[in-house]
Amino acid sequence: MKKYLLLTAALLLILSTVALCMTACDPVVSAPETTDTTADTTIEEPTEEESTMEETTAEETTVAETTAEETTAEETTVEETTVEEETTEPETQYVRDGTPKKYITIRMDDGITQDARMMEIMRKYGVDCCTFYISSGLFGQSIVVYPDRPDVTHKRYTRREIVAGVYDGFDVQSHTVNHYSLKGCGDSQVTSEITRDVAALKQIFGYRPVGVAWPGGDGDITDHTIDVVMETTNIRYGSCTTRNTYKGIKKFGLPQYFMRWYPTCSVSDADAQSLLEEFIAAPCTEDMLYFVWGHGFELDRFDSWDKFELMIKTIAAAAAADEDIVLVTNSEFYELFKEEIPAWKE
Ligand SMILES: [Zn+2]
Repeated sequence: MKKYLLLTAALLLILSTVALCMTACDPVVSAPETTDTTADTTIEEPTEEESTMEETTAEETTVAETTAEETTAEETTVEETTVEEETTEPETQYVRDGTPKKYITIRMDDGITQDARMMEIMRKYGVDCCTFYISSGLFGQSIVVYPDRPDVTHKRYTRREIVAGVYDGFDVQSHTVNHYSLKGCGDSQVTSEITRDVAALKQIFGYRPVGVAWPGGDGDITDHTIDVVMETTNIRYGSCTTRNTYKGIKKFGLPQYFMRWYPTCSVSDADAQSLLEEFIAAPCTEDMLYFVWGHGFELDRFDSWDKFELMIKTIAAAAAADEDIVLVTNSEFYELFKEEIPAWKE
């Protein structure tokens, strides 16, 4: 009888432990999504990526500031209960040997569903030198990019999809929490938009982002924005959208400052492929960079998936044929050159 009572007690203990564990583990995936719902519902729907959000800035400021604290608290709690598995970010394999090289890197923004098709193409050719920039406060949201083209979607992955490994094998860095125009934000909000995104991405991917793609492009930041980010965050490169030659930098030149890192061209530029071919054919007498950026939705908009595949095929063939050509993600390039290229003005 005594033995029977003991067995019953043990069984009850096991059952209650299992129930407790299930309750504690469940919010890991869903908590941040529900937290940010209030902020998300007031976000405008820009008609274009480059459109600024000044008119709604005041409203956003209020919402973001009131939710900032609880978000941080919840994130901290979730982080403690999350079992961080191995990082999905590929290790930097290339080590500089003192000879000049020709670096190729790709950037894609917003964390949208077309990214899967892009990655499928890149995996097909063994090209993984792409960094994706995502906004942790906008997971699962859809916006209208072109009102006259409802077939061109802009649908961001949900947190659950991202946690499940959508970006496995690729680099992911910050695109800020809410994709606001940072020049319209106060200093504390600039800091919050970056640090909360960095914390959320670190929780998902296991490594801390070191770079940001400025939401809306470099027209939506000021030098003061960069000063604030330098002083209050660990972000040390900021990817821009204006072509480097428009900023007085050589076509295949390296950035002057990492916090204003201008690309060579956009994936939708008419000369993106010819520039790539010119880069591949150029003599390698100094370190050079071909840096192409864009969004997956542009390939739907301009029906340019074949053009993108040709670009990836060209990159793969060039890297296989020429040891001076090195494929790196944006953050790998930063790591390779961070001792030589200053993040920002002294
Ligand atoms: Zn964006």
